[in-house]
Amino acid sequence: MALNDLQYIPGVGPKRAELLETECNIHSLEELLGYYPYRYVDKSKVYRISDISAMNPGSGNGATLPFILLQGQFTIFTEEGIGMKGPQHHLKALFADGTGVIECIWFNGIKYIQGSVQKGREYLIFGQPKEFNGTYSISHPEIEIVKPEDDPEAKAGLYGMYNTTEKMKRFGLNSKTIQKIILNYLQKNVAPFAETLPAYIVEQQNLMPYNQAIRQIHFPANADNLRRAQYRLKFEELFYLQLYLVRSFKIRHQINGGFHFSRIGDYFNNFYNLIPFELTNAQKRVLREIRADVGSGKQMNRLLQGDVGSGKTMVATLTMLMALDNGFQACLMAPTEILATQHFDDLRPQLEHVGITVALLTGSTTKKRRQLIHEQLENGQLNILIGTHALIEPDVKFQNLGMVIIDEQHRFGVEQRSKLWTKNIRPPHVLVMTATPIPRTLAMTVYGDLDVSIIDELPPGRKPIATIHRWDTQRLGLTRAIRGELAKGHQAYIVYPLVEENEKLKYKAVEQGFLDTQRQFGPEYRVAMVHGRMRAKDKDAAMGRFVRNEAQVLVATTVIEVGVNVPNASVMVIENAERFGLSQLHQLRGRVGRGAEQSYCILVTSDKLSSDTRQRIDVMCRTTDGFEIAEADLRLRGPGDLEGTQQSGLAFDLRIASLAKDGQILETARRWAKEIIERDPMLEAQQNGILRRRMQTLFAGKVDWSMIS
Ligand code: ADP
Ligand code: MG
Repeated sequence: MALNDLQYIPGVGPKRAELLETECNIHSLEELLGYYPYRYVDKSKVYRISDISAMNPGSGNGATLPFILLQGQFTIFTEEGIGMKGPQHHLKALFADGTGVIECIWFNGIKYIQGSVQKGREYLIFGQPKEFNGTYSISHPEIEIVKPEDDPEAKAGLYGMYNTTEKMKRFGLNSKTIQKIILNYLQKNVAPFAETLPAYIVEQQNLMPYNQAIRQIHFPANADNLRRAQYRLKFEELFYLQLYLVRSFKIRHQINGGFHFSRIGDYFNNFYNLIPFELTNAQKRVLREIRADVGSGKQMNRLLQGDVGSGKTMVATLTMLMALDNGFQACLMAPTEILATQHFDDLRPQLEHVGITVALLTGSTTKKRRQLIHEQLENGQLNILIGTHALIEPDVKFQNLGMVIIDEQHRFGVEQRSKLWTKNIRPPHVLVMTATPIPRTLAMTVYGDLDVSIIDELPPGRKPIATIHRWDTQRLGLTRAIRGELAKGHQAYIVYPLVEENEKLKYKAVEQGFLDTQRQFGPEYRVAMVHGRMRAKDKDAAMGRFVRNEAQVLVATTVIEVGVNVPNASVMVIENAERFGLSQLHQLRGRVGRGAEQSYCILVTSDKLSSDTRQRIDVMCRTTDGFEIAEADLRLRGPGDLEGTQQSGLAFDLRIASLAKDGQILETARRWAKEIIERDPMLEAQQNGILRRRMQTLFAGKVDWSMIS
């Protein structure tokens, strides 16, 4: 591996430079200075050992407390497990401050501690106490001799903590060393960087200048400065992201003409007249938005958000018919084979009824059938194709594809979407549907180039699902309750989490659950099982039996999370509910409550729950509103899901800003970006020189998807 300049920085050297590269993806000094602390600790406050137990939220063994500073003396040292390997060999010491005693423990560097730390001398130690059976211990505390007057940074009290890995620590690259390296550099270079935002933004937005912000983010003089530094750096990050998005969006709108659907015709009208219910106002509004898009001469790229059960499929179907009425073909792509099949089975009879031809294409479509589909697509005999990723394979060619619907967006990346654009001489219109609702600005950022529509209304007459929490120990009652529902002729889902940590045992919980369930409910009721490792054919067969009510209970993993529709199912049991995220629980719960009967969602958990988990379960029991749950999810877990799976769609990684938590800054940044692009789309004005150059650096080598057409 080629070494970078970092190695020449005092305190780094070749080995640590290599570690910074491999472990933290830091290749330059600038990147090192952009490695911000993940949190700050107030070292100005010295705690008493007697305070520690009061800080413990009472979660028992293994609970982690905040990092704290203690002042006192080491009393007894004991080395245990001499000659043994691994953690059995360690050094323990008692540390006392007059109010109590805490244990310190070292697994590495034992010799060093023994040789340097003295009994009876006054020390400051800094670390994170852990509880075990009522006693507290700190492993590998930072140790300093008490003489605060000669530490200039100690006065401020706020210390940055940097993320490091075990491997880095083994080579002495811990939070403290990183801090020292950065301090060393900043002491020698007073203003190392050029400003990264135009003066007029810095001024009007009252931002801290870049150099100062970098200094303050690493070594805050006080809490107020830290806040301002954070604001400046977050703003900058979100601003450039928005500038990129707003600009791509504008360019795309300028260059990509879309197919013009001028008329609503027989397909649409005949189908519409056969719908056995009245569309909700939200469905009608979204259809109008879509109609305006496809009639505008521009290419539609629209995201449709709507809670589970809000009737997105109906909107999608009518949207496809708009294409057919104008002489185009349409396709509907789903993330899994089960879902694609279900869409096909649901839609085919209705569509064929009004004279539309439709086919299903998935990974398990036979070669012969596939060939026929290819042929009929190319000669235009087929109007609508429903399927999985198989649809975007290059050998699938349409005669005249005008509309693409993508169900459950979060499993599709921007890149996959762009492949669809090559399916016709012009990119077809695209409607992306998701049941993971997120606030609008956030959606515009995560999905970048998409316009957003929202169905915020459920069809009338739905009974809210009753959600109940049950402990593991209340199984008997649970079995009785499920039996009660089955006796009424209803069906039930029982969902198990995957055991992620162990590939071999991954499906053990669900397989064991299947056997248990059979024992409990058989032979009167039949039980089917689906999970990810089964062959597609077997999965479909099992699913099919449940759909046709040949099996009354379906034991499954989250493969049923999205879209599956069995209105007769009235119970959703989620085992180990503590292992699921809120939005996932919400998705799963959405599988029931689709019929006229009262439905139930039962969350089963073990009897030891952290307070976060408790709150998650409480939120689920309290509300069925998807937006409320999404917001609680962001609050409780941070952006987790969102930034994990969806941020991958972002143009660059966010270092300090959070899409979930910094919504306010995001709005402001977006306003700025829009205003600037409005006035100066190509960033040619002299005052925007910084922006143009910065964009080139930040987005160098990025494929601009907006340009593909
Ligand atoms: P989702 O948004 O989760 O994809 P679906 O499209 O599967 O929701 O709709 C759920 C159920 O509601 C379907 O059975 C569908 O036929 C029905 N439905 C859709 N729109 C309406 C409506 N306006 N009134 C009554 N039922 C509707
Ligand atoms: Mg759906």
